[in-house]
Order: sequence, then C-alpha cells, then structure tokens
Amino acid sequence: MSDSFPFSNSEQQRQWHQGIKDANRNNIFCHCRTCGYEWMDSIFDCACTRCNSKDIERISAWQFPDD
Ligand SMILES: [Zn+2]
Repeated sequence: MSDSFPFSNSEQQRQWHQGIKDANRNNIFCHCRTCGYEWMDSIFDCACTRCNSKDIERISAWQFPDD
C-alpha cells in the first residue's frame, strides 16, 4: 500500500497539503491595470502590491474554466 503512495516522506506530503490550502485561500486573480503586475490574493478590496494602484482587475479563480 505504501509503495504506491506518491510522496516519499511526510514532509513532502505536508508541503503538498499546504499548497492546496494556499490555493484555496488565495483564489482571486488580480491584474493591475496601472503597472501590469499579476498576483493571487484572498480579498477583493486590495491595492496593487507593487505600485499601490486601486485600478485592479479581479477574477475569481472559480470562474476559470477547467478543461
Ligand atoms: Zn500596479
């Protein structure tokens, strides 16, 4: 059973779970119209982390089509 487990140790498994949690928390894709910076955030009312512009295009991750 353990032979088919995709992770060779518990540390890799922990990091994998942490990545899933981060993806669920930061699920809003933000695109700054001022400087073009793109990042993932968890809140809609955010300013650009690079130039502090409030002119942000926001797309919820759940709106992305999954192919
Ligand atoms: Zn910006």
